Amino acid sequence: MDFRLTEEQEKFRKEARDFLEGEKKQKLWEPSIDSWIMAYDPEFTKRVAAKGWIGLTWPKEYGGQGRCAFDRLILTEEILRYGAPAACHWFADRQIGGSILKYGTEQQKRELLPKIMKGEMYVGLGMSEPEAGCDLASLKTQATKKNDHYVINGQKTWTSGGKYMNYLYLLARTDPTVAKHQGLSEFIIPKDLAGITTSPIIDITGNEAWNEVFFENVHVPKECLIGKESNGWRQVMEQLAYERSGMERIMANYPVFEGIIQFVKETKRDGKPLCQDSVIRNKLAQLKIEFEVGRLFMYRVALVMDEGRAPEWEAAMSKAYATAFEQRLANTALEILGPYGQLAPHSKWTKLNGMAYHAYLSSKGYSLQAGTTEVLKNILALRKLGLPTG
Ligand SMILES: Cc1cc2nc3c(=O)[nH]c(=O)nc-3n(C[C@H](O)[C@H](O)[C@H](O)COP(=O)(O)OP(=O)(O)OC[C@H]3O[C@@H](n4cnc5c(N)ncnc54)[C@H](O)[C@@H]3O)c2cc1C
Repeated sequence: MDFRLTEEQEKFRKEARDFLEGEKKQKLWEPSIDSWIMAYDPEFTKRVAAKGWIGLTWPKEYGGQGRCAFDRLILTEEILRYGAPAACHWFADRQIGGSILKYGTEQQKRELLPKIMKGEMYVGLGMSEPEAGCDLASLKTQATKKNDHYVINGQKTWTSGGKYMNYLYLLARTDPTVAKHQGLSEFIIPKDLAGITTSPIIDITGNEAWNEVFFENVHVPKECLIGKESNGWRQVMEQLAYERSGMERIMANYPVFEGIIQFVKETKRDGKPLCQDSVIRNKLAQLKIEFEVGRLFMYRVALVMDEGRAPEWEAAMSKAYATAFEQRLANTALEILGPYGQLAPHSKWTKLNGMAYHAYLSSKGYSLQAGTTEVLKNILALRKLGLPTG
């Protein structure tokens, strides 16, 4: 595989960097870690949309740019490097748009894709339930067909999108009489339908990026079904491959990485520059090696996508590797910062604006969200190594 960028791609990276540098200089937002999943800023999303950078890979006939997955990877790499607030559009751009393109009706493509590309449609991901996480197929939320609509009853948890989501992706049971993997269907529904209530989940960092979502006799028009009824399991497995494999899995904490290198260059401890401490140099060099390996894993996933294949085991392998790296990075940052590292953002004495503290706490969830590391290793054992199911 040749990972060299073309001249156009190098130009595109520079264009993305110039745009983000300009935004940063104008202080339109504050760089943050987890910016793709926790930093919701509809105005930023609209400015990205105005550049034509949402739906970059989608076909031109639907208003997309028809570019390759590798170009999108370049853009996301830069957004994460700057810690720009991209959460409003991330999920729809990464996986929901692709699902609509593959399984949606012509009407869904014409109606929903432009809304996503204009930066107006923010989709929360409603898969998990209180008793259906790793064993997602055991979910209980029911979608019962009645004439021209479905009636939804049940509960989702850890639904992304914060208070900004205005649409919901929903995986629900349409046929309770068949085996659990067979009776599931996918929907994309407006969040303001009667009978939907949400309650924020305040996570370990104090952020409210996720929700519990309750459905009580919610009437959903049958046009909201995506793909074939009861084909949801197959469809969602493809979607998860896209969810697991982007640069956000290795760069969620990137501003901490750059920040800690800067800190080490500028700081003395007991009169001696930290950058001359051989243990610290060794730890940072080790992290750099691990980061570059993870980055290549992600590049490979983008190339697999450009070959038109869902990167199932590649995505599982990349995410398992990358989230472990992110956790080591956060631990190392805390070790180097010493007591400063434990101070929250905006505290008087904090360093790196409290990003190391946030990264340390937040990274605990990285190996759970979008598939736990144990489950990803199971996928790898089964799909790549060909080991029998345990
Ligand atoms: C920060 C965060 C964000 C999230 N965002 C979303 C979201 O946007 N949308 C959404 O739908 N969900 C989301 N989730 C939910 C996430 O997908 C689930 O937490 C995850 O699938 C694990 O499910 P569980 O928490 O119920 O754990 P369980 O399924 O109860 O698992 C508990 C433990 O058992 C292990 N385990 C379970 N089964 C196996 C097995 N077969 N082999 C080996 N080990 C196993 C697991 O690895 C885990 O360590 C999010 C979760 C977190 C923490």
